[in-house]
Amino acid sequence: MKIGFVGLGNMGQAMARNLIKAGHELTVYNRSQSKAEALRSQGARVAKTPREAAQGAQAVFTMLADDHALEEVSWGDDGILAGLDKGAIHISSSTISVALSERLTQAHAQAGQGYVSSPVFGRPDAAEAKQLWVLAAGAKADVERVRPLLEAIGRGLTVLGEKPSASNVAKLSGNFLIATMIEACAEVFALTRKHGIEAKTFLELYQSVFANSPIFGRYASLVASGQYEPAGFALRLGLKDVGLVLQAAGSAHVPMPIASVVRDQYVEAVARGMGEQDWSALGTLAAEKAGLGKP
Ligand code: NAP
Repeated sequence: MKIGFVGLGNMGQAMARNLIKAGHELTVYNRSQSKAEALRSQGARVAKTPREAAQGAQAVFTMLADDHALEEVSWGDDGILAGLDKGAIHISSSTISVALSERLTQAHAQAGQGYVSSPVFGRPDAAEAKQLWVLAAGAKADVERVRPLLEAIGRGLTVLGEKPSASNVAKLSGNFLIATMIEACAEVFALTRKHGIEAKTFLELYQSVFANSPIFGRYASLVASGQYEPAGFALRLGLKDVGLVLQAAGSAHVPMPIASVVRDQYVEAVARGMGEQDWSALGTLAAEKAGLGKP
């Protein structure tokens, strides 16, 4: 296919290279031209504007830093909206706001163009190795047309329906999971080190028990189904354990803000009579506070 690619940073470079390897004809644009030149030797045409990258393409990818960058390349005389043919599709892979995704959906529809929101999971090394996990949402026919392109940049694809911004919500949710996991790791590594355990030793334990373990998958299934009874591990005991974590932290002067928040969630759950449910029943608190019922 004839494809435009706008945004050749750490992620975009690697994604564009994989599209070339898959046999697609690329016209690339990057604000700093040197990064676009790097792809010329691999067979890409270099465009002077985002508009030129979009012109004549069946689809144009964008992989920019943030909302502001994507707005800059999308609107205006030199922008993608002005260049893309009717019926051609903008594949938006940057991590952006839900609001901008909705504005772009509207703007492309008004211009008779398609918009598929397609953020990705995976770091630049995964992009290079074609190991990204790709999300896609948009009109069914548009998603099907660009499916071979999305398959050329990753190891798997999750389609989230016809409303493009759904995949931005899913991407941001995934990044929040990662961010809380990073903070939880940061807190327990500080706690264990302060109590004299070498980081290397705790990392070995972490790798054996938690990394690649079914634990996270199991608890996500419980929260997704809302099935908290019978308890595999009672919530009141979960409260005891997070309390013990905070005691060990307090005695060694290790602040653990996430642990404090989680303890308060357990206190609330017990106060509401949920102590005998599974400790994953924190899922009920979050759902109820969001005005949701049982899944
Ligand atoms: P990056 O290396 O910083 O590249 C950013 C790209 O945006 C560059 O092409 C940059 O152009 C362009 N840009 C920035 N501001 C611009 C503007 N005002 N106008 C036009 N172009 C502009 O970032 P990245 O790591 O590739 O990330 C790209 C997107 O993917 C982000 O939304 C990020 O959140 C998301 N993401 C990143 C990762 C990761 O691990 N890195 C993983 C998944 C998703 P210049 O070269 O001229 O600066």
